[in-house]
Amino acid sequence: MVVRIGLCMLQGARHAHIRSLQAASEQSGIEISIHELRTESQFLNQKCDAYILPGGESTTLRKTGGSLKSGGSGLLPVFFAHLRESNSPVLGTCAGAILLCDPRDGDDRLIPASIDRNAYGRQTDSFQDILEVSLFDSQFPGVFIRAPRFDQSSISCESIAKHDEEVVGIMHGSRMALTFHPELTGDSRFHIWLLEQASHSSE
Ligand code: GLN
Repeated sequence: MVVRIGLCMLQGARHAHIRSLQAASEQSGIEISIHELRTESQFLNQKCDAYILPGGESTTLRKTGGSLKSGGSGLLPVFFAHLRESNSPVLGTCAGAILLCDPRDGDDRLIPASIDRNAYGRQTDSFQDILEVSLFDSQFPGVFIRAPRFDQSSISCESIAKHDEEVVGIMHGSRMALTFHPELTGDSRFHIWLLEQASHSSE
């Protein structure tokens, strides 16, 4: 079976996700095909088994992927509607996490936590540090680039990654939001997690 992965190509670290997905596929033995999604019609024509919503600038993502009526590509409205209907696995990193926690489409959050963008400060406050990831029961390199922060008291789903005492990764069913960038490390375990979710859900 080939697992179909939809990658939202609106902006940001998309190519790094492609490399991580290829590494994850080799390491897990799960065969994949990657489908680049930019527009409403691309999304509707290529239903996938799991999705990645990469980082970038959430304001730009909202604009370029917003409704056709407002001059966007229409991708985000159909994507979010599909996630709500299907529970398809999705991995949102950084700005992708912002959109999942704060979709601003008049409907519920896709992942129940509130999130503040650029909450560590400016570009110069980007940093790397070791994280404790309970999902893997081990450490993971955390790369934070103008990262958002979860409002810690608002999180009403599972915490899977912490930086010191602060939650930086959360999971709600098979939806995951990370405020850091696993695709910018050589470690593909979050991408393997996505492929495994996708292969279970399409069994
Ligand atoms: N600062 C960006 C935003 O607010 C997120 C940064 C990122 O995705 N690396 O949307």
